[in-house]
This record gives sequence, structure tokens and C-alpha cells, in this order.
Amino acid sequence: MQQELENLCRRCGSCCYEKFILDGGLVLITDVPCRHLNLDDNKCNIYENRMEGNERCLSIKAAKEAGILPADCPYVAGDPEYKPAIFLKDHPEYYEMLREELDELYFNDA
Ligand code: SF4
Ligand code: SF4
Repeated sequence: MQQELENLCRRCGSCCYEKFILDGGLVLITDVPCRHLNLDDNKCNIYENRMEGNERCLSIKAAKEAGILPADCPYVAGDPEYKPAIFLKDHPEYYEMLREELDELYFNDA
């Protein structure tokens, strides 16, 4: 059953990029990958222990509830109740608005 559920995933990796949640709950998927994501094959380098290795990693059920999956993800595609996450790169208006916060969150190594 668990395997059947996991087989739905097409390994696009979209849900393994850092997110930014706007007031109102809309989730923006940034182009900053989780440090555990293998960018060559979009697989998780710590899959078996991902919940321990990344405290922000979510199960599929929790990911659906949190709205972090994009519209074309097979776990939510076609669900009229689901409000999908959107990609920041497709929305430059949000990118400009959030640039400072994103830089602070993800690119400030100081
Ligand atoms: S967005 Fe959906 S299909 Fe893509 S990696 Fe995540 S769970 Fe799998
Ligand atoms: S730890 Fe979670 S978010 Fe990070 S790559 Fe693995 S499955 Fe994706």
C-alpha cells in the first residue's frame, strides 16, 4: 500500500525546494533546493531517514494539507478542493516583493 502510494510520485523534485508561505496561505516554491536533494536525479539522498534529517520534510499527507504540492503533482492533480503551490520563478511580481526576505533566509551565510 505504501509502495503503491509512493509509486505515484514522478520524481519531479518540485516539493523538495524551499517554500515561502504568503499571508493567506498561498505557498510559493522557490528555486532553492533542499540540501538533501540530489539534483541529478531529483531523489532524496536521505530518503529512509528524511524526517530525522530534515525537520521540515513532510509526508505526502502533511504536504497535501500544507498546500506545498504543485497543481500537476499526481497526489493532488484534479482535486477541486486543493489549492496548489505555485512556482516563484513564474511570478516575478512576488519575487521582487520577497527578494530581501529570500536572500536573508537562504543566501545569508553570515
Ligand atoms: S511534487 Fe509530487 S510528483 Fe513531484 S516529487 Fe513531489 S510528490 Fe513527487
Ligand atoms: S529531506 Fe525531504 S525535502 Fe529534502 S530532499 Fe529529502 S524528501 Fe525532499
